[in-house]
Amino acid sequence: MRNLYAALNNTETLDNENDHIMVQIQLHGTKRQVTINAMIDSGATEDFIDKGFCSKYNIRTTQVKTTREVYLADGQPSAMGPITHIAKVPMDIGSHRELATFQVAKLPNHEVILGMPWLKQHSPRIDCGQGKITFESERCTTWCLKESPTVYAIPENEAREENLKVEFGATQSKKDQRIQVRLLDPQAKLPTRGSAKAAGHDLYANEEKTIPARGQEVVPTGISITPPRGTYRRIAPQSGMAVKHQIAVNAAVIDSDYTGEIRVVLANMSDQDYAIQKGDRIAQLITEKMVESDCYQVPKLGKTGRGQQGFGSTGTS
Ligand SMILES: [Zn+2]
Repeated sequence: MRNLYAALNNTETLDNENDHIMVQIQLHGTKRQVTINAMIDSGATEDFIDKGFCSKYNIRTTQVKTTREVYLADGQPSAMGPITHIAKVPMDIGSHRELATFQVAKLPNHEVILGMPWLKQHSPRIDCGQGKITFESERCTTWCLKESPTVYAIPENEAREENLKVEFGATQSKKDQRIQVRLLDPQAKLPTRGSAKAAGHDLYANEEKTIPARGQEVVPTGISITPPRGTYRRIAPQSGMAVKHQIAVNAAVIDSDYTGEIRVVLANMSDQDYAIQKGDRIAQLITEKMVESDCYQVPKLGKTGRGQQGFGSTGTS
């Protein structure tokens, strides 16, 4: 792939007023583009766009099948009410281009809030002192930072989007897709795969821990990992534990540049303490490509060896 991005200015200057970090963005609505300032807020659990702003600038919104509540840090539903629509809109920040997905909400003070999902996806380096934001993650350098020829200037064009996906997919398939694992403790266990086509690798506890009833505990795994390029890692509950013992996983996304020990935050939703032994399977590590995918409906799914055996069928826990 041609190294186009190196020649581009991929650093944008920020206004840093009070504790808000604002960045200028261009959104490409269906009829025209609009330049506004968005707030980057690591405290926001979602990426939001204001409902009124969308209708004013012809930014198409799509109704979601299942509405979802927005929860505040204290666990209470937010007063902004359930989210019923999302907006997928091409967004430029300097030479950084993406198809952004926003939750549509009534925002009293902002048009656009770039929250944790956006920060996790692009992992921009934010220098508040210098007022600079630099896009240098693998995703951004392979996917977002492209100088679009004039003919491709309207990125909502479906064909262009497909071309980018194909190009990105081809680049990824040439790279080593294995996960590098380092054992920080010689007794730690390597992640293993429960079945040949399991989505994740099982993670094992490297210490004895008790997860208190209705509480949580951090369980070390004794390993650190480097994911394949263009991917990020997510820790998902071990389905048998989730169903039989109501053990969930909190703080589940790992930044792609984190090389410290993988530690799993297990939450016990039941009324009984849950004892973890060293070597127990505690969660699964899922490596995901950072690509936006769409769903399409099929009448029937293809056959696999595992078939419809579900929760807890690939081992004991
Ligand atoms: Zn990016």
